[in-house]
Amino acid sequence: MRARRCWARTVENRRCLVAARKGSTRCYFHDPATQQEQQENRRRAIRTCNAKRRLAAEKAREEAPEWLQGRRLDTLDDVRAVNCDLIRAVCSGEVELRTGAEILGIVKMAMRGMSEGNSTRGRIRPRGAL
Ligand SMILES: [Zn+2]
Repeated sequence: MRARRCWARTVENRRCLVAARKGSTRCYFHDPATQQEQQENRRRAIRTCNAKRRLAAEKAREEAPEWLQGRRLDTLDDVRAVNCDLIRAVCSGEVELRTGAEILGIVKMAMRGMSEGNSTRGRIRPRGAL
């Protein structure tokens, strides 16, 4: 026998297409009994995602060439100069595209701080530093 469908309605007022959970009239997403579990799963997913991002950024810092490490990112001119050098390095094959993209993400964060009027004193951290 096939599982019964969830009784809940979508925002477009259509019947939910997901099967109801065993012993319930609702699916995992619509059952009030799973709300806490859902929230925990969402939090866990975010934590995993953040950890992966941090690791990728850390790896990019380690793989960044010597001349890129410790570069100042205090002004828009600093950012422009780093971007130009980075693009050249990626195009010449000195820096891997993936590493370049991660470093660009770090540069973008420094820029975000600038547009909010904060002096971030941002820097591409030197190898081995925290
Ligand atoms: Zn449902």
